[in-house]
Amino acid sequence: MKIAIASGKGGTGKTTLSTNLATYLAENQAVVLADLDVEEPNSGLFLNGEMIHREDKFKMIPSWDKTDCTLCGKCQQVCNFNAVMKLAEMILVFPELCHGCYACSELCPENSLPMIPKKMGELKHFRLPNLDFIESKLIIGEEQAVPLIGQTIRYVDEKFAQTAIKLFDSPPGTSCPVIEATKDADLVLLVTEPTPFGLHDLKLAVETMKELKKPHGVVINRFGIGDVKVEGYCLENDIPIIAKIPNSRKIAELYSVGKLLYKELPEVKVELEKVAEFIATYQEEIV
Ligand code: SF4
Ligand code: SF4
Repeated sequence: MKIAIASGKGGTGKTTLSTNLATYLAENQAVVLADLDVEEPNSGLFLNGEMIHREDKFKMIPSWDKTDCTLCGKCQQVCNFNAVMKLAEMILVFPELCHGCYACSELCPENSLPMIPKKMGELKHFRLPNLDFIESKLIIGEEQAVPLIGQTIRYVDEKFAQTAIKLFDSPPGTSCPVIEATKDADLVLLVTEPTPFGLHDLKLAVETMKELKKPHGVVINRFGIGDVKVEGYCLENDIPIIAKIPNSRKIAELYSVGKLLYKELPEVKVELEKVAEFIATYQEEIV
């Protein structure tokens, strides 16, 4: 079962839920957690595993070979991302903008844009008791998160086909990276906070999940601050509120030193149990 942990905006507690839930579930079964927030992965700050594998990750980009190029400009016309440009008597490729779609390369009449690999980031695989943790990170200056997210999910699929629970700590927002991270999920946990900002971004995230036809539920973090409008919205729209992680200074203190919350705070463990029960019930329904 693939479970994506997502949120409409950053800083709502996605990583807190991912790391605590992964470790909690791993007390009873094998679990994989992949940090797909590849621009800024930080689940690893809370998980001290032993690194057992590391590999560079590449994307394919076109490389101009001027030998037979007629400067027809077709490559520039077909690129939807302005990643290839005809300038005077040259064809320029902007690797950071390239989505690796192969269109320019395939449609070039002279085969003057062969695709070549370019490093975009790296993947690390850490092992903890009953828990495999995968972390991918883009190199500085690389702007395309989607290819690395896709390759990281493939790594998990290939290595852990038999592992029952796979958690994906997804990027924040509602754009292409979060869609890539959630599109194969069986269930999406949307983390939010009970504030007007939280509600605003939760609505966007819910709309995105509806568009993707993804079953989803809400975990409210920092419960106790703000107002009750998030709860009202979930009730009105039949969205299950799975758990409410309380707001407290102690939680902030533990988080700031990279400690898992549920091991020290029973009130957090109770909420994780609710999430685990929700997952188990859902798992029974879909089997
Ligand atoms: S499509 Fe091919 S031949 Fe035409 S300008 Fe681009 S690289 Fe040159
Ligand atoms: S591979 Fe696709 S995105 Fe990249 S430059 Fe060519 S057409 Fe543009």
